[in-house]
Amino acid sequence: MLSQKFHYAPYSLKLKEPFGTAHGTRDSTEGMIVAIESDGVIGYGEAFMPPYYDENQASMTAFFERVNIEHLLSFDSIADSLKYLDGIAIGNNAAKAAIDIALHDFIGKCNAQSVSAMYGAKDVSPFETSYTIGVDSVETMIKKARAAKEFTTLKIKLDGTNDVEVISAIADITDQQLFVDANQGWADIDKALEISSRLIKLGVELIEQPFKKGQYKKAKILKDNVEVPIIADEDVQGFSDISKLADFYDGINIKLMKCGGIFEAFRMIKEARKHEMKILLGCMTESSIGISAAAQLAGHVDWCDLDGNLLIKNDTCEGIKCVDGFLSPEGEKGIGIIDDKALRGLLNVG
Ligand code: MG
Repeated sequence: MLSQKFHYAPYSLKLKEPFGTAHGTRDSTEGMIVAIESDGVIGYGEAFMPPYYDENQASMTAFFERVNIEHLLSFDSIADSLKYLDGIAIGNNAAKAAIDIALHDFIGKCNAQSVSAMYGAKDVSPFETSYTIGVDSVETMIKKARAAKEFTTLKIKLDGTNDVEVISAIADITDQQLFVDANQGWADIDKALEISSRLIKLGVELIEQPFKKGQYKKAKILKDNVEVPIIADEDVQGFSDISKLADFYDGINIKLMKCGGIFEAFRMIKEARKHEMKILLGCMTESSIGISAAAQLAGHVDWCDLDGNLLIKNDTCEGIKCVDGFLSPEGEKGIGIIDDKALRGLLNVG
């Protein structure tokens, strides 16, 4: 019998600067890092959720305690392993994403193959990521925009208070492509139509999750009346949401932490394409484990917003590199992170 172990440890990602959204401001994100170890091969994963979702270190630990690693690794396919996890408990998507990522990393390493190759990617040329600017004073947001010149696209968080003022000030100092994310912060449809038209005149090319979750009709009015894509984020958690959102949104933001990992994200990509929806591949505040994992699917989407690891000061490891605003997949094995002593130390593995 091979020795099989499942390791997990709490980890707190410290943000370089306080990060503001319409949900509030925070300076850290709590989560867990995990490792699956079998016969000397180690696959890594992680789970990080902002506080406005319903998972935390306690719920993740409780879920991990119920996972039997020998059982998890006894299946012939990732799909069956994930079914086993779904049988343990519903929900817990970030915890499941951690295990899904570790499984993919582990299997890729066993087969000397990158996860992107496992999902059929042929093109490994560098791809752009947008860079996110959180809600803050206009002065601070301009300062952050100036410091992010290497990125082709800035994703600006808005909270519905002074949105036109913020975008106008940023548009004054840059020609970069601008996306906005209201994080459910808009309420009145007439005001949203007016603000959108002013933002678009200022150069905004995409609007994410304008209204509260579930307010599909308002999203559709916006979609039908503005010429930039309206993208669902908080409104799309998993596969089953896609068909019901197709009439109301132009596209969806897929994040591994929301949907439960790489396998599910790829299924969602295929489903969204069936409905001719655009796809933004996004992230939470995550370390290079989660970002490198998501980057494996970059060849299948329209835009990448994979900057979570750039916003933290205590990354867990080295992974996919961001150079001049471009992420470069280099065809490594698994999810493409560097497995060193420091990372092993965090999890007490190897
Ligand atoms: Mg968003």
